Amino acid sequence: MNKPARHHHKPIQPDFIKAKKSLGQNFCIDDRIPDEIVSCLAATPEHQVWEIGPGKGALTRRLTETGARMQLFEIDERMREVLTGEFPAASIIWGDFLEIPDAQLPAVDRPLLVCGNLPYYCGTPIIKRFLEKGPQAERLVFLLQQEVAVKAAAPCNHKEYSYLSVHTAFFAKASVGGTYGPGSFAPPPKINSSILILEPLELSADERERRFRALKPASYLFMQRRKMALPLLRRQFAGTDWNERFARLGIDEKARPENISPAQMLELFAPLNEP
Ligand code: SAM
Repeated sequence: MNKPARHHHKPIQPDFIKAKKSLGQNFCIDDRIPDEIVSCLAATPEHQVWEIGPGKGALTRRLTETGARMQLFEIDERMREVLTGEFPAASIIWGDFLEIPDAQLPAVDRPLLVCGNLPYYCGTPIIKRFLEKGPQAERLVFLLQQEVAVKAAAPCNHKEYSYLSVHTAFFAKASVGGTYGPGSFAPPPKINSSILILEPLELSADERERRFRALKPASYLFMQRRKMALPLLRRQFAGTDWNERFARLGIDEKARPENISPAQMLELFAPLNEP
């Protein structure tokens, strides 16, 4: 007997799209997640919302109800029928969000909000791209693996305080929202996911540049987070009187990287009185 003909003419049912692990596809099946993201985002019809990785539209569906103008970025072209069929008013850019050159990103002609249930493999670079290069958003709300969300928002002296915390603090105010277990997704990931809320700081071009300058020495310190910072700096960046700087900023000479706040890192590595 012949095999039954395949019905290519029928619209693809979202349930038939098998999740690709390589694209970090864990589809949301828990209504509390879109509810929380949409409520944190506080979109209005005056906003434009960029959603990274809409997948089958679990979050997009709730976002469209806000009346905001929707811009979607999705890498997986198998979602084309589902997304264009259900969200005809949304504009969609297909491809890897991280590969889109800055000049080809859509124009921002009204207040911008950014969100997404981000794939685990590229959550951090996506956050860094927005914080470092923009476009400047009013607010960004992402669902990420819990560890990354906690690290991004961790304050000085917290056990998760790390380079990502300093990087984030240089460019935004960060806080962690709800945490969701593997059962909120299909297929279930192995780890918990949390919501991260970022409110980018408004920085002048000079101030932004100053913060960039402080990133490299900060990242160097966190590569050896258990060691005392002062001897590390004296060895690696000779030519600066680190003892004097520590004393002036009131930083304990035995401080480890995790005991130095983002504000102190800025003053240590890009002092305001230096050109
Ligand atoms: N928003 C959907 C949801 O909550 O059910 C899907 C979330 S799933 C965790 C991540 C989505 O990001 C997938 O649809 C995946 O195809 C897409 N994606 C993965 N890497 C991407 C990239 N580099 N650029 C744009 N989208 C990407």
